[in-house]
Amino acid sequence: MPRVGVLALQGDVREHVSMLQELDVDVVRVRHPEDLDNLDGLVLPGGESTTIAYLLATSGIRTTLEEKINAGFSVMGTCAGLILLSREILGGRSDQWSYGALDISVRRNGYGRQIASFESPVEVKGVGVVPGVFIRAPKIERWSDEVEVLAMLDHGDGQHPVLVRHANVWGCAFHPELTLDSRVHQLFTDSL
Ligand code: GLN
Repeated sequence: MPRVGVLALQGDVREHVSMLQELDVDVVRVRHPEDLDNLDGLVLPGGESTTIAYLLATSGIRTTLEEKINAGFSVMGTCAGLILLSREILGGRSDQWSYGALDISVRRNGYGRQIASFESPVEVKGVGVVPGVFIRAPKIERWSDEVEVLAMLDHGDGQHPVLVRHANVWGCAFHPELTLDSRVHQLFTDSL
């Protein structure tokens, strides 16, 4: 059974933990660098990317996780987690860092502010239609050819990827953990 961590510094940790518990995986909450030992994968939850970035640095997880990602460790970032994995953040704080593991540019709150949050069905390659919950979601405005696009959405201003993957690194603009549909998590855990 794969052991999957959920980065438990800030954000919707509990929802990811319960969704993963429904799948055939061992779930571990990650709060310290040593919690990353012996994991097969890690989910970076939604929340506030600036806060999670700050806590990654102060907890000491930032560099340990960076080395692991570079060595092929599997990670899936949802919403704020996607921002943390991206190469370029648009509309971020000037001192905001990210891992740069996905060659994409994301605009924070690119679909609008809290009040513009929305739900939309999303067609995921090889899976079917899943419910997409978008809360102050990042918009992927640029993506390179090396990035596999698993789902696109047109929310009135053209098609933008909302689920992407490059090798061991997965990014999701929406919140699959806030629905009853665990197929996006299943895609990730099946890859471990
Ligand atoms: N807009 C938030 C950020 O920049 C992300 C929103 C979310 O994770 N629901 O961190």
